[in-house]
Amino acid sequence: MLSKLIRSLEEGLQSGEFKPHKFFDRLIEYSSSDRIAFCKWVVDKISFEDHSTVVKLAFTHLALLRHLPSYETFLSFESRWTNTYHNQYQFLKALFENGKNGADCNCAVYHNGRFNTPPYQEDLEIIEEKHLDDVDFGITHLVYVRCIGCGKKWEVGLDYIYHYPHSHWSPLRET
Ligand SMILES: [Zn+2]
Repeated sequence: MLSKLIRSLEEGLQSGEFKPHKFFDRLIEYSSSDRIAFCKWVVDKISFEDHSTVVKLAFTHLALLRHLPSYETFLSFESRWTNTYHNQYQFLKALFENGKNGADCNCAVYHNGRFNTPPYQEDLEIIEEKHLDDVDFGITHLVYVRCIGCGKKWEVGLDYIYHYPHSHWSPLRET
């Protein structure tokens, strides 16, 4: 499994038409241990200078899966990591720290407003989505999710008035 994934990544990178996000999205079809093994291989072997998106995506999977042995390696990339609008480096760092503190799930990081985390995460189950048609600005879309880890429910409001969607998390009160 691992060698097949590695070969497929290497062929993709050579083809010049490689779509890193698409490739890494498909990884969730694999078991956690296969994903961890593959992503560890990527962060050890793939050049960050040549393929930074690929390495960053591998670290994203390792952080989301709370693979703590990769945390030290991750920290060594700090000075080379050009950040994006949603504080990607800090987000991954918070995920690792959260795991290190013994958390069973990523909720504590997701709902932190600094990171603008979309509600579409593999460890969240979507309960319901609502479009608020009569709103002209601000939050126009509500997504209700349940954390598969801790069972907590969240209401995530999305607004699209900026260049990219903003996610606002609040705990969902049971009625
Ligand atoms: Zn949770």
